[in-house]
Amino acid sequence: MGSDDCLFCRIVRGEIPADIVAEGDSWLAFRDIQPQAPVHVLVIPRRHVEGVGSLGEEDRDLAGELLFAAAQVARSEGIAETGYRAVTNVGERAGQSVFHLHVHVLGGRRMRWPPG
Ligand code: AMP
Repeated sequence: MGSDDCLFCRIVRGEIPADIVAEGDSWLAFRDIQPQAPVHVLVIPRRHVEGVGSLGEEDRDLAGELLFAAAQVARSEGIAETGYRAVTNVGERAGQSVFHLHVHVLGGRRMRWPPG
């Protein structure tokens, strides 16, 4: 899917509203519209990357920035101490429904492992 009709690219461009909680030069963090936990924030790159599997050599810094941002969001959302999950689904079979890389930051309740 190109970035023109990508849902998260449209959020980055401000064409679709989102509850933004933090942002950096290369990333944006906003609340998931269908939260699966008391805290459920998505951290996405501003630039369109389909998913973790599509990261290239040139995206090494970006990959680190996204994970670092996830930890930052967890701290600001107050779940860093109680524990949280930072997860990214890759491919439809793994549960990916939006094909623009995003890290789910989930916390505020006990998490079960393994996931279904
Ligand atoms: P995934 O299934 O891993 O691709 O995650 C996509 C996530 O995006 C889901 O948890 C959706 O609830 C969330 N989502 C879809 N549309 C929006 C939106 N407009 N604003 C915020 N989150 C959204």
